[in-house]
Amino acid sequence: MSTSTTAVDLKFCPLFINGKAVISRGPKDIQYNPATGEPVAEIPRSTPEEISDAVQAAQAAFPAWSKTPVIQRCKILFKYRQLLEEHAQEFVDLIIEENGKTIEEARGSFDRGIECVEFACGAPTLMMGETVDRVGRDVDGWSTRNPIGVCVGITPFNFPFMVPMWMFPMAIACGNTFVLKPSDKVPRTAVRMVELAYEAGLPAGVLNLVHGAKEAVDCLLTDPRVKAVSFVGSSAIAKYIYQTAASNGKRVQALGGAKNHTVVLPDAEMKATVSAIMGSGFGCAGERCLATSVVVAVGEVADPLVKELVRAADNLNVGAGCETRTQMGPIITEESRKRILSYIDTAEKEGAVLARDGRKDPVSKGKGFFVGPTILDKVNPNSRVAKDEIFGPVLSIVRVKDAKEALDVIGKSEYGNAASVFTRSGGAAREFTQNVTAGMVGINVGVPAPVAFFSFSGWKGSFFGDLHALGKDAVHFYTEQRVVTCRWPE
Ligand code: NAD
Repeated sequence: MSTSTTAVDLKFCPLFINGKAVISRGPKDIQYNPATGEPVAEIPRSTPEEISDAVQAAQAAFPAWSKTPVIQRCKILFKYRQLLEEHAQEFVDLIIEENGKTIEEARGSFDRGIECVEFACGAPTLMMGETVDRVGRDVDGWSTRNPIGVCVGITPFNFPFMVPMWMFPMAIACGNTFVLKPSDKVPRTAVRMVELAYEAGLPAGVLNLVHGAKEAVDCLLTDPRVKAVSFVGSSAIAKYIYQTAASNGKRVQALGGAKNHTVVLPDAEMKATVSAIMGSGFGCAGERCLATSVVVAVGEVADPLVKELVRAADNLNVGAGCETRTQMGPIITEESRKRILSYIDTAEKEGAVLARDGRKDPVSKGKGFFVGPTILDKVNPNSRVAKDEIFGPVLSIVRVKDAKEALDVIGKSEYGNAASVFTRSGGAAREFTQNVTAGMVGINVGVPAPVAFFSFSGWKGSFFGDLHALGKDAVHFYTEQRVVTCRWPE
């Protein structure tokens, strides 16, 4: 993004404060379509006053919303789900334009977002407390789950629709009010999401929307009216969010970056394994927190595996996401593209073998922010490309002698989001799942993304906090318990 003061013919991107679309008075940045490199919108940076107004609106809406029966709150979410489905194509188009995903990826991420709304519709049962009769003579005990107040969500660029859905549907279903600060790179999808929530009948102020990056986030992290912060993004910022929000007395869940490993054992079924690695490594142009970026090839599987991966990558259609033939789209920005290319340069210097050099693909030299699929072989597990999150279509192959050595490679990673194993052996899979240091594990699955009723549970440097996103953790994160001890003499 670059700063601009000129009003070119671009779409506008309002904030939402107290149920109303508001044009920001803050400075504007230009958003580019990653597939064409053309400007498409002006994105405002909310002023501190606007952010304060959004928090104030959320705080003012809290007393009535938290006392609205949970069934009533969920009825609005049912209606919201229906409206979202009616606008599915519009969201798919918006995700493609803002983020660069292919049609299939955009629709898939939309569906996963819808799944989160459906999960939140279960709040009446998910919020149930516990009861024990007769904990003492004439005494009963029970617990209830109660909303906590104004919650904030700060989201990344890579899933403009799905990641915000990890947060606000469950937060508001539990009776909280919310301020969403989407990625400054893809905020227009969120504008439509919030607009439709109001169309579904949400009372004013329950869901508010602000734009911007660090300054906007800092206002939210230090505002005493904010009670909880959900963050998804890179690890350095996740750690900062965790520390700053926690030291300001807030509950925090901060999901960070990743470096995910896929272990291929010699008995793996080659065709299915290659297809899964291609989907995981190059799907969403590698810009997925569950993307595999290190393939750990065990023993004699390495040579045939690399050969098949290169063949599949040669046949991958790379281009604009809106075209039906496209299987891999662009990178989010020119800045990210340059960072990814510099990692390929580094890999070469570090002695990796360039089994496939995506820099040479014509698409990498044309319009838009593209990097062709790249495969680095014989990568040293201690090198930067093997350790750093690259977040692009670059697969590193690390060759090891056995499954134990593969687990050691994963164990040394500073991240622990996801890891997969490909094998036909139940025993080897069991050994892997019980010893791997990652929170989301795949067995013959390339992208082990949990469905919404499980938690999204990264480990190590991929997560800062206690309660994760989604699943029962989300219900616990967005509520606090009240435990009642009650005596009624018989
Ligand atoms: P990012 O960390 O750059 O930005 C995330 C959010 O933080 C955005 O809303 C951004 O505006 C804001 N932000 C940026 N700089 C900030 C700063 N200095 N202080 C405070 N806030 C700031 O992440 P991104 O590039 O948008 O997204 C990609 C990253 O997100 C990758 O690292 C990816 O692994 C991670 N991610 C993780 C998960 C997960 O579940 N663990 C899911 C999706 C993405």
